[in-house]
Amino acid sequence: MNMELSRRAFLRTAGAGLAGTTLGAMGFGAVEEAMAAAIRPFKLANTTETRNTCTYCSVACGIILYSKGDLRKGERAEITHVEGDSDHPTNRGTLCPKGAALLDIIHSKSRLQFPMLRKAGSDRFERVSWDEALDKIARAMKDDRDANFIATNKDGVTVNRWTTTGFLAASATTNETAWCTYKVVRSMGIVAFDNQARV
Ligand code: SF4
Repeated sequence: MNMELSRRAFLRTAGAGLAGTTLGAMGFGAVEEAMAAAIRPFKLANTTETRNTCTYCSVACGIILYSKGDLRKGERAEITHVEGDSDHPTNRGTLCPKGAALLDIIHSKSRLQFPMLRKAGSDRFERVSWDEALDKIARAMKDDRDANFIATNKDGVTVNRWTTTGFLAASATTNETAWCTYKVVRSMGIVAFDNQARV
């Protein structure tokens, strides 16, 4: 939607009924708020609200995704609007500029949506199922850990290190899932453990 054009159109309409002194008293912000309040109910009508977490950084702000399309009827849900979750304890409805632009990353053609695999010798990635991807990752991790796990150092001290595989976690998560991820990774002995928010 062209907000600039809509705003001008709104001001033209409002100007017909409001004296200049009234506009001045209201201030520009008040006019914009009035316009937003008038549009909002129609914009979000018949949408489904889904709570989620901003994908960008480790602040992990709560968001609400508004989508159209009834999955029960076999329709594909399309996300039409994203805003901060006012009930979320971290951000109380606010979003930084990156979070406020989440709709762009959701609809980006380059966004990775499925597991992709580049087979040995191939020059391209191809889509694989989640089962196939998870089996392949589990197999590779088991094989590498069995071959390279270090139980004790040269002095015989127990160290339980696995240094040949690294783990990159995601910041779009809750404290509880982050805690579980940490426990799983560290219990396997992985030393190289980082978060996508720092990349
Ligand atoms: S809205 Fe901004 S601060 Fe909050 S998680 Fe997203 S990127 Fe981080």
